[in-house]
Amino acid sequence: MLRELFAAGLNVARVTMAHGTRDSQKALIATIREEADAGGYSVAILVDLPGPKVRTTPFVGTVELALNDIVTMIPGAQQPSTASTFVVDYPSLTDDLQVGDVVGIGDGIVHLLIEERTDAALTAKVVHAGQLTGRKGVKIPTERLRANVPTDEDLEMIEALKDSPIDIIAVSFVRSAADMLAVRKVVPAGGPWLMAKIETGLAIENLTEIIKVSDAVMVARGDLGTELPIEDVPHLQKQIIKETVRNGKPVLVATQMLESMIESPTPTRAEATDVANAVFDQASAVMLSAETAIGHDPVLVIKTMDRMLRRAERELDPGRLQAFALEGRDLTDVNVATAHAAWQAANDLTASAILCCTRTGATARKMSSFRPLTPIYAMSGDARARRQLSLCWGVQPLLLTHSQSSTEEVMQAAIGAAKDAGVIKDTNVAVVLAGSPQAGPGHTDSVRVATVS
Ligand code: PEP
Repeated sequence: MLRELFAAGLNVARVTMAHGTRDSQKALIATIREEADAGGYSVAILVDLPGPKVRTTPFVGTVELALNDIVTMIPGAQQPSTASTFVVDYPSLTDDLQVGDVVGIGDGIVHLLIEERTDAALTAKVVHAGQLTGRKGVKIPTERLRANVPTDEDLEMIEALKDSPIDIIAVSFVRSAADMLAVRKVVPAGGPWLMAKIETGLAIENLTEIIKVSDAVMVARGDLGTELPIEDVPHLQKQIIKETVRNGKPVLVATQMLESMIESPTPTRAEATDVANAVFDQASAVMLSAETAIGHDPVLVIKTMDRMLRRAERELDPGRLQAFALEGRDLTDVNVATAHAAWQAANDLTASAILCCTRTGATARKMSSFRPLTPIYAMSGDARARRQLSLCWGVQPLLLTHSQSSTEEVMQAAIGAAKDAGVIKDTNVAVVLAGSPQAGPGHTDSVRVATVS
C-alpha cells in the first residue's frame, strides 16, 4: 500500500502519535522510511504530537448514537468506551465540564448536552447524532483545560523517537511562541523541522510570534473549527497562509479536504472546490487524514487529490502570485533579498529552472515563499533537508554534494547535476542561487543567470 501511495503522489507521511503504541509507531516510521528509500521517493515523515487533546478510550467497534440517547461520561484510561459509557482520558473531566455545556465529540461528529454532574460522572443527552469509532477527541474549552504544551507525554515521545528517521514534528494546541520554544529546547539544531498546528483562539492571537519561532505551520481546521466559530475558518485559513508565507515558511491546510471519500469513490463538489481554493489561497501543501488512515481506497483518494491540484495549478496567475508574495513583505534580509532577485530574473527571462544550492534547505524554503511559476530544484547533499522541502510550494529535490570550495564551483556543479538529471538542457536559461562556501550554511548571497551549455 505504501508503495502505491508514494507512486500516487504522497510526499509527506504523517504519523499521528495519538494512535497506536510506541512500538507500532516506531515500526511504522521505519517501514515508511525503508519503503520510500527503496522506491527512490523523497518522502518526509511528519510526526504529529497529540498535545493535551482529550480523547475517549477506543470504542468497541462502531457505535451509533441517536438523538436524545443518554450517555454517561467518566474519567479513566483503562476500559473501552461503549455507546452508553464514554471513558475519557482526562482526570478533571467532571470538574472542567459543567451542566449546560455542549461538548463536541470527534471534531463535532456527535454533540452532547451535559444535563447532570457528580464528582464521579457526567450524564449527557445526544443533541447531534452520529457514528463514532476508534479514539475520539472530546472538546474541553481551552480556557478551562489544565495542561501544558508540550505535555510531558509529548516530550517523552520526542525522546523515544530520537533515533527514528523523522523529518518534521508537529506540535498540537500551541498557544504561544513559548510553547514552540519549549519543544525547540529538546530537538537538536539541524534536526527535524518544528511545525506549529494553529488550532486554538490563543494561537490566532499570537500568530506572528508563533510563526517566527516555527519552521512550518499547519492550518488544523478540525480543532480550529470546534474552538472558533465555523464561519471564521475559511478566513482564518487565508490569514494564516498569508502570514506564514510572508515570513518565508511553508504552510499546510488540513482536515476534511476529501472527507466523503472515506466511503465514496468520488468527492463532493464542495470538497473539490475546497481543494482548488487551498491552491488559490497559496497553501504550500494539503493534507489528508481519515480519508487515507481509515478510508476504503487511500490510493484513489491521493490520485484524485493529485489531479485536482494539478488542474487548479493550471489556473495560477503570475500577477496574483507576485502580489501575494510581496504583500507586506520585509525584503531587508540578505537571504530574502537574494531570493527576491532570483525570482525577478526567473520571471523576466522565463527561465526553465531555479537551482537552489542549499545545505540546510533554508534557501529553497525562502525561494518557494516567492511563489515563482518556474520549478525550484532544491540541490542539497543532505537527505533530510531534501525530504523536508517536500512540504514547500513548487520545490523538487535533487542531490548535490557540497565539496566545492568556491561559489563559482558550487554553481557549476549545480548546473551539471541538473543537466544530468534531465531537468535543464542546453540553451535553457537557469537561475542559480548559492552562498559562498566560506560563509557557512544559511547564507545565500549570490544569484547567477546562466544560459546552459
Ligand atoms: C486538526 O485538528 O485539523 C488536525 C489536523 O489535528 P488532529 O489530526 O490531531 O485532530
